[in-house]
Amino acid sequence: MEKIRLGKTGMMVTKLGFGGIPIQRVPEDEAISVVRRCLELGINFLDTANGYTTSEERIGKAISGQRQKLILATKSSARTGEEIASHLELSLKRLGVEYIDLYQFHNVSDADALKAILAPNGPLAVIEEAKRAGLVKHIGITSHQIDIAKEAVKSERFETIMFPLNFIAHEAAEELLPLAREHDIGFIAMKPLGGGMIDNVTLAIKYLLQFPDVLLIPGIERVPEIEEIVQVLEQPWAMTAEEQKEMERIRQELGSRFCRRCDYCQPCPVGIPISDVMAYPSLAKRLPPVRLFTGKFAESFEKATGCTECGECEERCPYHLPIREMMAEYVKLHAAGKRQYEIGAL
Ligand code: SF4
Ligand code: SF4
Repeated sequence: MEKIRLGKTGMMVTKLGFGGIPIQRVPEDEAISVVRRCLELGINFLDTANGYTTSEERIGKAISGQRQKLILATKSSARTGEEIASHLELSLKRLGVEYIDLYQFHNVSDADALKAILAPNGPLAVIEEAKRAGLVKHIGITSHQIDIAKEAVKSERFETIMFPLNFIAHEAAEELLPLAREHDIGFIAMKPLGGGMIDNVTLAIKYLLQFPDVLLIPGIERVPEIEEIVQVLEQPWAMTAEEQKEMERIRQELGSRFCRRCDYCQPCPVGIPISDVMAYPSLAKRLPPVRLFTGKFAESFEKATGCTECGECEERCPYHLPIREMMAEYVKLHAAGKRQYEIGAL
């Protein structure tokens, strides 16, 4: 499989990496088989996170004996030095490795979060120390918010940036990617299949292959999914006129209801985490029921029932999404799913 240089990290990664969110949803033996099939197909970059429940541990089991040829990336949403130190220790243990190739600050999508990461003795200082100690080889950041991502790139404190990029959410291609190139920051495209919303894999991958230096990390749950993507990679990537037309059609169909999770719609006067609710169709495809129907996401949907329909969020959304209408629909879907979950039907 073709390899590309991941910016100033100098690491040679396969053009296609493995995104470790969906393997939380399947039984452990299936998850391990999926990771092993990816390795057989030649993939050398695996991405996971402290927050993806069983994902790190499952990857750790799958890669046993093959660590040397792999590039492992994980991330943490900790916003204090103390917390990130414990997350790093846990990641090393779960993955069963002595070092992490790329350690990333997860979902840094507002100014306060970036400030917390950069604070003296904060998370970045702790991970830089871990780098000096050889526990981490390179440091990156992930975000859904383009202004924060640009600020992070310009700070020159990170070696990679992970940001959504697909043919619906393609804003990063215009300014963020060129900026990352200027600073020699490796660009990792998250959600290449629109977080599970783009069914046409061929078009989704062909669109992204126009960016030769971008690493794609689709979330993979089953073996046939990765095999299909690898097949597309082996074809010429130029789109036919018909494919272009179809891509435009999907863009029109999904674009008016596709939440980028950028949080420009905040603050909501009653404190609703709008993007959690708006991402429901995508999250329902990728997360295990326990994460959807208990804990943080369940709380977000509970809060959404208190929406006063003031419409302030819609005035701020740059993509003009009908937030109130979509939230009402997803709150209903979530409640129905939760009932099923509680009676053990999921
Ligand atoms: S419409 Fe609802 S979600 Fe949007 S800002 Fe108002 S209360 Fe918050
Ligand atoms: S609703 Fe709009 S502003 Fe809010 S997170 Fe989604 S895309 Fe961004």
